[in-house]
Amino acid sequence: KQILLEVRNLKIQFQLKNGKKAKVVDDVSFSIHKGETVALVGESGSGKSITSLSIMRLLPIPPGEIASGTILLNGKNLLDYKNKEMSHIRGNEISMIFQEPMTSLDPVFTIGNQIMESIKRHQKVSKNEAREKSILLLKEVGIANAEKVIGEYPHQLSGGMRQRVMIAIAMSNNPQLLIADEPTTALDVTVQAQILNLMMKMKKDHHSAILFITHDMSVVAETADRVMVMYAGQIVEEALVKELFLNPQHPYTRALLKTMPSLDTDVERLPSIPGIVPPAYALPDGCRFAPRCQFAMDQCHTTLPEVLVIDEAHKVRCHLFSFSSKLPPL
Ligand code: SF4
Ligand code: MG
Repeated sequence: KQILLEVRNLKIQFQLKNGKKAKVVDDVSFSIHKGETVALVGESGSGKSITSLSIMRLLPIPPGEIASGTILLNGKNLLDYKNKEMSHIRGNEISMIFQEPMTSLDPVFTIGNQIMESIKRHQKVSKNEAREKSILLLKEVGIANAEKVIGEYPHQLSGGMRQRVMIAIAMSNNPQLLIADEPTTALDVTVQAQILNLMMKMKKDHHSAILFITHDMSVVAETADRVMVMYAGQIVEEALVKELFLNPQHPYTRALLKTMPSLDTDVERLPSIPGIVPPAYALPDGCRFAPRCQFAMDQCHTTLPEVLVIDEAHKVRCHLFSFSSKLPPL
């Protein structure tokens, strides 16, 4: 399979008021193949959203700063692009949907206006053609009364409908990569499932790849081909989805999986991982998970573990594997 996106050794810092620097993303490397669905999971504050904003070149600079690394789309480094060149990529080659569509939709323009605007920005079409395409896109995302909805304003639609519109806009120029940052988190459970199904259908029909950012392991299980687990600015484990669920290695991945509801769990009593993600301005020496890790050894508190390759598709950043001892099965 061909590589679409390759992020190499990405380091992002934020300049703090007290003169210190926060390492928000620290030495992150990964790739996404054409047409693949890759999930980036972790608790909030792990650097997932900052990673995706930097791919879109939407990171606020300053206070953000890309200290080092490359972000290659089809072999070309997006970080070298001028702003104008990047505006041809954004919304065209790569598009993004967010948790709250209300923040990306403009309240003063109609739905039709906003889809047409997105089409006309990247395609040479007449106003009429753009309008026709908008109606088709709305129908494609399951909005049956599209002719009516194109004349409506965002506040007239439900949350689920607005997210459908966002998906229509995101897919309007057949992007090679769709970045979806917690796209269903703000929705009702029943609507969540519909939106997930819709995203997967659109991805298939438009031959796009998806980078799916979520904190929800059950969403990962349903959508992803491959999973990357992020903790405190680093990817700590990466594997094919089945392998990650059957054979998780990193103690943090194991802890995350335990927070997944199963059919017989009382949702009110779901376990959560004790402790918090350390803030990026106060990272511990050594392994960043050490303060919360039940397997922590002396070296974990002093030395940051390297990424170890367990097999071709499975990597882990943990000292337990530097002497190739595996944890006992769950
Ligand atoms: Fe736990 Fe040590 Fe592995 Fe970190 S390196 S996850 S502290 S065992
Ligand atoms: Mg986020």
